[in-house]
Amino acid sequence: MADKRDYYEVLGLSKGAGDDDIKKAYRKLAKQYHPDLHPGDKAAEEKFKELNEAYEVLSDPDKKAKYDQFGHAAFDPNAGFGGGGFGGGGFGGFDDLGDILGNIFGGGFGGGFGGFGGGGGATRRNAAQRGENLRVRVPLSFEEAAFGCTKEVSVTRIEDCDECGGSGSAKGSSPENCPDCGGSGVVRTQQRTPFGVMSSTGACRRCGGTGKIVKNPCSRCSGKGKLRRQRSISVNIPAGIDDGQAVSIRGQGHAGFNGGEPGDLRVAVSIKPHPQFERDGSSVLYQMPITFPQAALGAEVEVPTLDGKVKYDIPEGTQTGTTFRLRGKGIPNLNGGGRGDQFVTVNIETPKGLTKEQKELLRQFADSTGGGSGVKGRGKRKKLF
Ligand SMILES: [Zn+2]
Ligand SMILES: [Zn+2]
Repeated sequence: MADKRDYYEVLGLSKGAGDDDIKKAYRKLAKQYHPDLHPGDKAAEEKFKELNEAYEVLSDPDKKAKYDQFGHAAFDPNAGFGGGGFGGGGFGGFDDLGDILGNIFGGGFGGGFGGFGGGGGATRRNAAQRGENLRVRVPLSFEEAAFGCTKEVSVTRIEDCDECGGSGSAKGSSPENCPDCGGSGVVRTQQRTPFGVMSSTGACRRCGGTGKIVKNPCSRCSGKGKLRRQRSISVNIPAGIDDGQAVSIRGQGHAGFNGGEPGDLRVAVSIKPHPQFERDGSSVLYQMPITFPQAALGAEVEVPTLDGKVKYDIPEGTQTGTTFRLRGKGIPNLNGGGRGDQFVTVNIETPKGLTKEQKELLRQFADSTGGGSGVKGRGKRKKLF
């Protein structure tokens, strides 16, 4: 506690600065030190923490009064003031922070920042909440992934009740403001502490923080305003998608709450193995068996590709394991810009189950090339002649 900087100093202000100055200074510095603008920078992260701690105290009139009187000791549980200090109060500046983040990142922050909130989240339960994203996985054939396709996916999602439009109230009626919290969803409770009467806010119990009471519930959704529905959704899978990648469809996820927009549907693909081809990014890999005479003498062969069979000239004297490239016969690039290549690796197959005559021809061949050292059956043949 001893090494803590003065909260006013943290905000670059002099002691006793007014509410407006505190707010302005905090906004300016929070923008400057926000961790998302300094990824991995520990010093900025510490500054941001320190800043939030200072603002949490100085933006709260009660805490500020205590701080002005006792300094940091007012919040130190070991300093002999008894009680747990101000723990659990949550971060009072939630709304301001939300505004700032909104300004920096152009919205989209929403509830994701709950980590700072603590108790703050409860007080915002009646605010618009975006729906949850919905995730499904769809199997694709090798060709479907390569060339793209349209898939019908079946999802079960939470939707607004079509009978009551999501209000939860039967036709002809509408939800009323909760009498306990006056529709705010938040109630203020007071507590006696060694520093005097402290007030804190929390979600209203009667309405669960929504601020609304449904007196005449809709029979279809039992007043919940939401229903679980099964839907079939048509999804365009782009050509070139790879295993594990996902397509996101805006607004096709679960319904939002309190007028919030629905979440997204995220369709991840898993590609089924192909009996002949393998894939490596935008390349198609193919292992082609060829015969020894084809390899030795050269041959025009037919190679299977995603576009059907194509002719290819195997040159004379090709070794097993040699790889040929068929340009443009691979997978289309997901972001446009043509197709990858197909790589054909040849494997020379050793003939099996030869007849006597065929074996004899091979022995003669071995003799003529001087490659017959130790070949079986040669001794036997010599005996014959
Ligand atoms: Zn309903
Ligand atoms: Zn209420």
